[in-house]
Amino acid sequence: MLKEKINNFYRKKEKSRQRSYFYASEVSDCKRKIYFKVKGAEKKDLDPETNRKFERGNLIHQELTSALYSTGVVTASEIDMPKGSIFRGRADAIVSIGDENYVVEIKSASPYTFKTLNGPRESWKKQIQIYLHHFDIDSGIILVECKGTQRLKEFIVERDDAAIEKLEEEFEELMEMIKNDKVPKKPNKKKWKFDKCKYCLYEKACREAENSLKNFTGA
Ligand code: SF4
Repeated sequence: MLKEKINNFYRKKEKSRQRSYFYASEVSDCKRKIYFKVKGAEKKDLDPETNRKFERGNLIHQELTSALYSTGVVTASEIDMPKGSIFRGRADAIVSIGDENYVVEIKSASPYTFKTLNGPRESWKKQIQIYLHHFDIDSGIILVECKGTQRLKEFIVERDDAAIEKLEEEFEELMEMIKNDKVPKKPNKKKWKFDKCKYCLYEKACREAENSLKNFTGA
């Protein structure tokens, strides 16, 4: 009875919208998926459980940001990246400790992931590198809270301009493909730690693109 009502409340439809930039948070996604996202292709609705997980993550962000404010180290929070980049995004906070400024990125993780986390995920590192570069700050802190135990871990990330240059080149190429309606090839799934296709909201667009390519080439 209640379960259905709550699930219906969380079964939100999100409209697809075409855009001309990438979000810093999506840079480690499947490139083909990013293509469909930026193109505003039709996507599946997010299921209620995933929506609730996102809301939990948002609450953790709010709580930790507010705690950081109370410690007096925050100089700014929820700061939009300066315009003019191919990437957009919002850093969770900039803190000042001693004479150094740090970009802070807050993450939450399941108890299993948290337990096995000995360093920041590659996707988190790429995201914070974009902020470090564009805010011109040398170091960042990735702060992770376990969703089950509320324990915290933190990882320092140093700015790596060469990594950013590579990332920008990669995404400029992707933007050219988007402008020229050239769908990226299906990625080599063997390189993935898990099957991202299982959770992909653009699976239909991906399948249709593959079919039309097969029809076109007669494969
Ligand atoms: S279904 Fe898989 S390959 Fe296709 S866009 Fe989604 S994640 Fe990428």
